[in-house]
Amino acid sequence: MTLKVESLGAGYGKLAILHDVSLEVAAGEIVTVVGSNGAGKTTLLRAVNGILKPTSGRVTLDGTDITGRPTEKMASLGLTHVPENRLCFPSLSVRDNLDLGAWTRRGKGDLDAVLELFPRLQPRLGQAAGTLSGGEQQMVAIGRGLMADPKAILLDEPSIGLAPKVVAEIMKVLTHLRERGLAVLLVEQNVRASFGIADRAVVMQRGRVVLEGTPHELVELPEVRNAYLGGA
Ligand code: ATP
Repeated sequence: MTLKVESLGAGYGKLAILHDVSLEVAAGEIVTVVGSNGAGKTTLLRAVNGILKPTSGRVTLDGTDITGRPTEKMASLGLTHVPENRLCFPSLSVRDNLDLGAWTRRGKGDLDAVLELFPRLQPRLGQAAGTLSGGEQQMVAIGRGLMADPKAILLDEPSIGLAPKVVAEIMKVLTHLRERGLAVLLVEQNVRASFGIADRAVVMQRGRVVLEGTPHELVELPEVRNAYLGGA
């Protein structure tokens, strides 16, 4: 099972943002996409997920062409997108927020499996999601995506605004998803954190893939260290 992006192009109105972007994420693999502000990372995830209709290229999951399918179809096809803003329904309980992810009924919505990944949510199932900490809300957002029993998951900056300890917790969970055989595509500004867990990394600039390799290979490159790792 592989999520394959081939020569994808997308933009907003007449403004072309993504150009000829290709990448692959296999089952049981974490691929991270890094790049400076405005490089097109969010746009890439939106085009892969079909929220934004690609203007060229294609996206396949397990060999099935899913390019530009309606978002509500994507979940039932096995692709889940966890957007940047941790969209929780603040007045709904944690349990109701999670249950919303099971609406496609691709899987049975395995709440126990989600709680195993995020034990912190167990005692908070009845709590309004709006009263959770930022980290816990991120866990709900990811957990909700998992309730659809996806084969591939797209995550847009799950670490943003979180304390280092919570970031580490979220990254750990992503490694568990890899162990469970998901294809994980992770957009991150926190390059240190994402390089710590990723099998491969893709660097984007101005809507194009300019570098790719293992994190280990990429950190050897001065341009990567200077641009994304504070020169360290
Ligand atoms: P960041 O890390 O800052 O979130 P990014 O790499 O995710 O950046 P995108 O959000 O994909 O970048 O934005 C890529 C380009 O597309 C930017 O120049 C941005 O201004 C533009 N853009 C994003 N959304 C829209 C929109 N709805 N309409 C027009 N242009 C947009």
